[in-house]
Amino acid sequence: MQFHVMTLFPEMIAQGLANSITGRALREKLISLNCVNIRDYSDNRHGKVDDYSYGGGAGMLIQAEPVYQCYQNLLSQIPDGHKKRVIYVTPQGRPFCQEIAEELVKNDDLIFLCGHYEGVDERVLEEIVTDYVSIGDYVLTGGELPAMVMIDTIARLVDGVLGNDASAEIESFHGKLLEYPQFTRPEVWHDKAVPSVLLSGDAARIRSWRIKESIQRTRERREDLYRDYCRLVQLEEILLR
Ligand code: SAM
Repeated sequence: MQFHVMTLFPEMIAQGLANSITGRALREKLISLNCVNIRDYSDNRHGKVDDYSYGGGAGMLIQAEPVYQCYQNLLSQIPDGHKKRVIYVTPQGRPFCQEIAEELVKNDDLIFLCGHYEGVDERVLEEIVTDYVSIGDYVLTGGELPAMVMIDTIARLVDGVLGNDASAEIESFHGKLLEYPQFTRPEVWHDKAVPSVLLSGDAARIRSWRIKESIQRTRERREDLYRDYCRLVQLEEILLR
């Protein structure tokens, strides 16, 4: 899986993702990261890529042409026949979630466009963007953190990136429930003991305890997910009747 990022701050993304699990995945070439500076495609000798918004208003916009040239250059490096998407990270997009990550990981190449200032000239977005994605209902100063959030989430779904592939399958959001609580050594900490069932060695009991805890936690913390889960269970019961 190749990630390409069009940004005004390529080092921010390259340095951020060079650590921990994504860093190892990059070194082992399970994923690759190509961060490109939109300024390199400016026709201005000072590398200026922003200008005022027609109609007035505070703040600047990234111009269409440097983004378009940057994109064309990236496209020329992607082999014909590769499955790709072009994602503009924006608070106006579809809310990012695990399901979108699972859709996007099926591509060979993902191209991210990070906005800055007030955003990007609408005309180039219309020409190149296939997906508009938001990481939440708040406004950040730029698209670099959203792109990193998405790349991290998608990268861990790539085969081999997580040491133990099963861990992506059993955690929060993979099904409809949040993950159950987990404990590590010591067995007693601050007078709190690890639930005895987890020390029983009885795999069936541990599994059913974990399912129960997952349901309970989802009900307490994410009522919306819990309602979806109940609907699914009811549907399954109807189908199995
Ligand atoms: N004027 C824009 C609007 O109201 O939609 C917001 C611009 S924001 C200050 C600058 C850039 O940060 C955006 O172009 C986008 O790329 C990125 N950004 C900010 N918040 C984001 C979010 N919640 N999700 C994804 N990208 C975001």
